[in-house]
Amino acid sequence: MKHYAQPIAKLIGQLTKLPGIGPKTAQRLAFYILDSTQEEVEELALTIKDVKDNINYCSVCNNFSAEEVCSICKDETRDTNTICIVENSKDIVAMERTGEYKGVYHVLHGSISPMEGRGPDDIRLNSLLSRIKEKNIEEVILATDPNVEGEATAMYIVRLLEPFEITISRIAHGLPVGGDLEYADEVTLSKALEGRTKV
Ligand SMILES: [Zn+2]
Repeated sequence: MKHYAQPIAKLIGQLTKLPGIGPKTAQRLAFYILDSTQEEVEELALTIKDVKDNINYCSVCNNFSAEEVCSICKDETRDTNTICIVENSKDIVAMERTGEYKGVYHVLHGSISPMEGRGPDDIRLNSLLSRIKEKNIEEVILATDPNVEGEATAMYIVRLLEPFEITISRIAHGLPVGGDLEYADEVTLSKALEGRTKV
């Protein structure tokens, strides 16, 4: 880094913090930015700021949304009695790609991980409970990641929802163990959804 002017070194340092970006890629991106026009750079900087300023959590499902309620929760053709629980908004994108799921979602924004010190209070379970108490929910599909944290989270939710008369199922069946839901292909995910088992 010592060969770079300080602002360039700083930019490379910031880019390296992004997931999947190593030092070489960060360097390439930094020089791409330097070679761009003033307008292009301002547009990029503003877009990054804009997404943080204008995207909030959907007041129903916690999905990232530019409006108070996200487009999925607003969609009247969807079955609001079925909630699919996912760890992240990215997982909704993966589920939607299958085109199979017609219910709504609940985004936890994380998982329970005793190893990393994340407990039930660190994920969005209170809003899930409120939804289940207030709405006529018939089925909850647990689509947390097929790894240790995802399983721990799913099991915790099963116990949490025990007092309610709802069908609870888990889709992990058929998904590669230890993987991330967002990387599963449509066919695997469709089959996992179709083959969900009651818990
Ligand atoms: Zn929503």
